[in-house]
Parts: sequence; structure tokens; C-alpha cells
Amino acid sequence: MTALLEANTVCKSYGDFHALTDVSISINDGEFISIVGPNGAGKSTLVNVLTGLLKPTSGQVSFRGSDIGGIGPVELARRGMARGFQLVNIFPELTVRETLCVAASSRLKRTINPLRSLIRDREVHDAVEEVADIFNLRHRLDQRARALSQGEKKLLDVASAFALKPELILIDEPTSGVSTGDKHAIMELLIAACRKAGVRAIIQVEHDMDLVARYSDRIVALQAGRVLANEKPETFFKDPALIAAVVGT
Ligand code: ADP
Ligand code: MG
Repeated sequence: MTALLEANTVCKSYGDFHALTDVSISINDGEFISIVGPNGAGKSTLVNVLTGLLKPTSGQVSFRGSDIGGIGPVELARRGMARGFQLVNIFPELTVRETLCVAASSRLKRTINPLRSLIRDREVHDAVEEVADIFNLRHRLDQRARALSQGEKKLLDVASAFALKPELILIDEPTSGVSTGDKHAIMELLIAACRKAGVRAIIQVEHDMDLVARYSDRIVALQAGRVLANEKPETFFKDPALIAAVVGT
């Protein structure tokens, strides 16, 4: 079986600091992967490399068999991969509708300028309503992003990635800064939405081990930039030393 996304002996240095060393992982169709590890382990760097935002210092990253090292977010979205950010990447003064319009526009190949005519575009409008329904944001469509709760901001970030109708979604701490109840609500919505829309795989960075245990098909643990474990949750959670290494600071 060809992997959907594959990193092959990826190294990434910042100056002479090695943030990732010989990372090789593959993500297959239908998998939900969690990337875990203590602060500074290289999780965000790995996500940035996997999404072509950062070019590996050495090694390759391929998506559906073609090299995506450093291709950048726009080209990546065209090829079917979308991502959300650890620090929610939304514009506080845009409304929810405007935010989702901008996200949908890149899939529908519309120019976003002027925003007013984009909003009147029927196909964009329908795409926005659809995604707003999926993520329970319909009643918020005409409010500014800054008026949303932290949980809703996270949902909007995930919904923006989702509006691209990707084959694969990567999310860096989709639930950081939200309450436990909201975390589960966000994850359930995301997973249901992905199933419904045919998203083939999800990669998340997550600190909350309850969420990791509950939702992952496989867990990739990083420690000081190396792969410490790449296991199914059943195996991973049987190893107290591994859990301790990952929870870290
Ligand atoms: P994590 O997401 O697991 O907390 P990061 O990937 O953000 O880890 O960072 C891994 C290591 O690389 C950390 O020690 C961090 O300080 C360092 N680092 C991250 N980004 C940069 C950068 N742009 N320049 C220099 N060092 C960086
Ligand atoms: Mg991080």
C-alpha cells in the first residue's frame, strides 16, 4: 500500500540546532495519527515539514508519492492537504462568514478581492453554509471572529482547514486552551465532519493523553527531535516509561 504522506529520514536544523533527526514516518489512508512529546520535542517543526511550510535540511517528504518539501500552503492546499495552527490563525476583525469565504475561495479558485463579491458568489456561499452547519457556527456567521469563545475560535480554525475539502488534515493542538468538555466536542465534530466529507487521514499534535488514547489509530512520540515510539494506542499506553517520557514538562 502506498502511504498517503511519508517522511523519509527527515532532518531539520535551525542554525546548528537539530530540531529533527532522521524522522521516518508514514501515514496511510484512513488513519488518525497523534504526534505527542514534551515541549521542544519538535512536534510543530515536524508538522511544518510535513505540510511543506518548512523545507527539510535533508530527507524527503512526499504526499501521494510526490515530493512536497517546502512547497508552501497554497500549493499544498491545491494538492489536497490542509492544516490548522497551534495559535489560531484567524483575523479577529473578519466575520466568521468572511473567514470561511476566504478559506473556501482557494479551493474554488476565486480571487478574494473584493471580499464583498466573493461573499455573493453562490458556490462560495453554499460551501460556507455547509461548513458552518457541520461545525455549529451558523448562528455565528455574521459575528466578528474576536467575539467567539476560545472553543469557537478553534472550531473556526479547523472549519477553515476543512473548507478546503482536503484529503488530509493536520492540526497542531486543535484543543489547546479550551475546556475538557469543549475538547471532546471539537474532536467529535471534526471526526464526524471528516468521515462525512471523505477526508482520508488526520494528523494532530495533542498534549491531552485522554484525547490521544480515545481518538488515535497510531501514536508517534517525539523526544529531542527523534522518533521515540510509533505505536498503536493499545501498545503505547501499556508502557509507563514511554508515557512519562512523552508527558515530560
Ligand atoms: P514542540 O512543538 O514539540 O514544542 P518545536 O518544533 O516548536 O517543538 O521546537 C523544537 C525545538 O526547535 C525547540 O527547542 C525550539 O526552541 C526550536 N525551534 C523551533 N523553531 C525555531 C526557530 N525558528 N529557530 C530556532 N529554533 C527553533
Ligand atoms: Mg508546538
